[in-house]
Amino acid sequence: MFITFEGIDFCGKSTQVELLKKYLEQNDHKIVIIREPGGTEISEKVRDILLDKKNNMMFIETEILLFAASRSQLVREKIRPFLNENYYVISDRFHDSTTAYQGYGRGLPVEIVNNIHNLSIGETIPDITFFIDIPVEEAERRKAAQGSRSLDRIEVSANNFYEKVRRGYLEIAARQKRFKVINGMMSIEEIHKQILNEINLLHKKELN
Ligand code: ADP
Repeated sequence: MFITFEGIDFCGKSTQVELLKKYLEQNDHKIVIIREPGGTEISEKVRDILLDKKNNMMFIETEILLFAASRSQLVREKIRPFLNENYYVISDRFHDSTTAYQGYGRGLPVEIVNNIHNLSIGETIPDITFFIDIPVEEAERRKAAQGSRSLDRIEVSANNFYEKVRRGYLEIAARQKRFKVINGMMSIEEIHKQILNEINLLHKKELN
């Protein structure tokens, strides 16, 4: 099963990926965790270029193609082989992030974004995607609380950018059945439970 986590920065994705990993490992499942952008030697190099604050003159077209380059390597080198071996593949961000950030956030036409997805991931679409939704003000609050962690090139974007990204996610969610909107203001434990419920429901559907 291919599971992805989406949402604006600080929504709680990595917290939930970690809890899901623990749960699946305790239940003797084979799992692999992937981070986006990155996850392979080549993809990690592309990640460094993408997140480096010195690259502040990067054009949006360059940005989306670098994300796609990182992802196409990851899909072919890791995700497909692991799925073929019946692993749970869990990714903190995937192609929906590109639609939300570069499409809705930065304003690239969604049709172009979808064409890029066709090339970079093809048929390798997640089985289920958890969109952990929090208001931008909450993300700000959590960002301030973390204080010392230095922010990357994309995390330093202005709040109105994140509003657009959040609205983008909600639009994708309205169109895609695999998207599960999770209220990120619930407790970490409640969110985890809801995620497990959705995964179990999907398993039952697949068995029928
Ligand atoms: P992301 O990976 O989406 O950027 P993190 O999992 O790193 O988000 O969480 C960002 C911050 O918010 C962390 O300090 C984390 O402990 C906190 N956090 C995560 N989930 C919740 C939650 N449900 N309620 C309150 N705080 C949370």
